[in-house]
Amino acid sequence: MQRFEQTYIGGAFQPTHGREELRLFDPVTEEASGIVVLADEEDAARAVKSASMAFQTFSQSTKKERIELLHELSRAVETRADELTEATIAEYGGPIEQARWRAGLAAGNFKDAARILEDFPFSRKVGEAEVIAQPAGVAVHIVPWNSLYNAISVKMAGALAAGCPVIVKPSEYSARQNQVFTECLHAAGAPAGVINVVTGLGQVVGEALTSHPDVRKISFTGSTAVGKSILRGAVPSLKRVTLELGGKSPTIVLDDADLSTAAHAALSFGFLNNAQSCIAGTRILIPRAKAEAFSEAIKVALANVVVGDPRDPSTTLGPLVNRRQFERVQTYIQSGIKEGARLVAGGEGRPDGLHRGFFVKPTIFTNVTNDMVIAREEIFGPVLCIIPYDDEDHAVALANDTPYGLHAYVIGRDRGRAHRVAARLDAGRVAINTLRHEPLAPFGGFKESGIGREYGQYGIEDHLEIKAVIGS
Ligand code: NAD
Repeated sequence: MQRFEQTYIGGAFQPTHGREELRLFDPVTEEASGIVVLADEEDAARAVKSASMAFQTFSQSTKKERIELLHELSRAVETRADELTEATIAEYGGPIEQARWRAGLAAGNFKDAARILEDFPFSRKVGEAEVIAQPAGVAVHIVPWNSLYNAISVKMAGALAAGCPVIVKPSEYSARQNQVFTECLHAAGAPAGVINVVTGLGQVVGEALTSHPDVRKISFTGSTAVGKSILRGAVPSLKRVTLELGGKSPTIVLDDADLSTAAHAALSFGFLNNAQSCIAGTRILIPRAKAEAFSEAIKVALANVVVGDPRDPSTTLGPLVNRRQFERVQTYIQSGIKEGARLVAGGEGRPDGLHRGFFVKPTIFTNVTNDMVIAREEIFGPVLCIIPYDDEDHAVALANDTPYGLHAYVIGRDRGRAHRVAARLDAGRVAINTLRHEPLAPFGGFKESGIGREYGQYGIEDHLEIKAVIGS
């Protein structure tokens, strides 16, 4: 069984000071697959010390040096794309095509930041003042296990472009992916202390990092509950905080949409990344008169959802990450049944023919009202709600009636109308008839889905402080 027992501090792999162990399980077989030796507060303090020392020189580095580093990082990640893909599959059962795509995103994030940095204005004239943007300081990046490489790279690309050294705290459930990715980061040859990685528990290493007086910037991706606690912890020293949190995104099917196309699209939005995606479209809003026909269309479309071994190229839906998540999703399915929603497909237990692994039946509820628990809370599993609406205003009202606001989808034939609806939605991103990602556009949430934006120039600005110099 593989052991993961190193931190990456000061440009070198080192044994963790912490000795507590966490066991990892293969989500397909449920067998123990690895042991993580968790970092502790001492490891966190060492990482902050190393990054603080590096800040002295890295904050003064030239654009050219940082552009070269970003290109090196991109190349290092590209070189090991196959191993990164394999680690994703092994660790959380990401279907092979999606896992490959995700490994590619990370290399792209570093390359995009390098390109933007070429013309990025760190100084400009505003009236009589010279407005200077300077690196915010040591940055702590805390990320979840899903989409690990993308989350680390998009934050790191912005920070490094801005001139901030980074300490990454990956999820304790992503040690395998993290090991390969950190080896890539090491291969890029950043100056010692500019990149540091410590894997440990959120309540231990996460809190030690986010409360450290020498940390100026926190960028967190994860659940809304933890995001709020990090924000509270940042108050005493008013650290700059960016939060990328959960979602309960609506998919609005307009009444001119083709129902079969809409059903296929809604499933792909809902079941993305094994249905463990912050941007999953989990509330499908459908004209009331078409709700029954849409339920039939979605039953047909479900024939294309193949649950099973993530290494099989025909699989579209792999297992959930761990037993806790499997059990949590089962509880939500029971809650939907108890609240009176009607099952169109799926339900409790494992899919037919799968007797082990954290596999969940692709589950669709109809007759859902927007106040049911399954329509309000982020489930993070393949459970979708069909919610009928009366007219366009009602659809918009239902879409916005959620504590979240990360993403939204609109499906319809009339482009002008779809864009008008998109403009009325309270969400950081709205995708019309597509699942496409635009890595140069801002990403982030309204309301309890977060604070701040990342990607492209927004990720660089996110790691800068602005200063006005007036007079001569
Ligand atoms: P989580 O909030 O449990 O953990 C995320 C990270 O925070 C982990 O590294 C964890 O160790 C750390 N952490 C936990 N407690 C902490 C504390 N007190 N202080 C500091 N760090 C702490 O989330 P998860 O289960 O790993 O991931 C799933 C969640 O992430 C979902 O809610 C999903 O929507 C969200 N997510 C959001 C985005 C986005 O961009 N908005 C992207 C991916 C995932």
